[in-house]
Amino acid sequence: MKVDLHNHTTRCNHAEGSEEEYLQAAIKAGTSIFGFSDHAPMDFDQKYRMSFAQMSDYEATVKELQKRYAGKIEVLLGYEVDYLPGHMDKHVLEADVDYLIGSVHFLDKWGFDNPEFIKEYEEKNIDDIWQKYFQSIAEMAETKLFDIVGHIDLIKVFKFMPTKDIMTFAMPALEAIKKADMTIEINTAGYRKPCAQPYPSKEILQKAYELEIPITFGSDAHSPAQVALYSEEAEAMAKEVGYTECAIYRNRKREMLPI
Ligand SMILES: [Zn+2]
Ligand SMILES: [Zn+2]
Repeated sequence: MKVDLHNHTTRCNHAEGSEEEYLQAAIKAGTSIFGFSDHAPMDFDQKYRMSFAQMSDYEATVKELQKRYAGKIEVLLGYEVDYLPGHMDKHVLEADVDYLIGSVHFLDKWGFDNPEFIKEYEEKNIDDIWQKYFQSIAEMAETKLFDIVGHIDLIKVFKFMPTKDIMTFAMPALEAIKKADMTIEINTAGYRKPCAQPYPSKEILQKAYELEIPITFGSDAHSPAQVALYSEEAEAMAKEVGYTECAIYRNRKREMLPI
């Protein structure tokens, strides 16, 4: 069963291709369940996300495709929401969707995964950055507002690695995720980035498995060509670690399916 719950649309202003092109690519790759989870609107970083006014069009478009593609591929509707205290909006948090992915892309408003702001890594202590990042992931889990943790170790994107053992930062976050009963995704976008490995690393995934944290899969595609890219590698890693099932969400309820 091929599942892919993290995919974008052109509404975020940094993706390309029509929704149907994404679905065609997914069908071609053998995906059974495909979710759109575009960047949700917020009153910060508006340039890289849909506006509040676009929410109804986004939701209606995906729901129409859900009907039209029934029998060919199951289409799910979600949002990727920024965990950014003071900027989360109830229109997004209470949207009528299948799931919400919670992601940390900002540390004190620093867009650390954006190449535009890469210089800031040199001005900060790398261990502090990692500490702060995973603390933010743990806080996100504690809010219980989201279903899935987006790219749990995104902080490695540009390969600025900490001097201390990564698990000293990641473990408290995993424990908070377990406590909140959230799912983590194996996000293959990392393969396309300087870090050249999925989110999470195998080491973190192994710990998640030991804690019995469910997984799902996401291409984090920003173009049809990125749909299902490296999905074989992601599934192989999940199985090597011991996972036999993955999670999907319908109407904010988790169901487990065989991988
Ligand atoms: Zn994006
Ligand atoms: Zn993201």
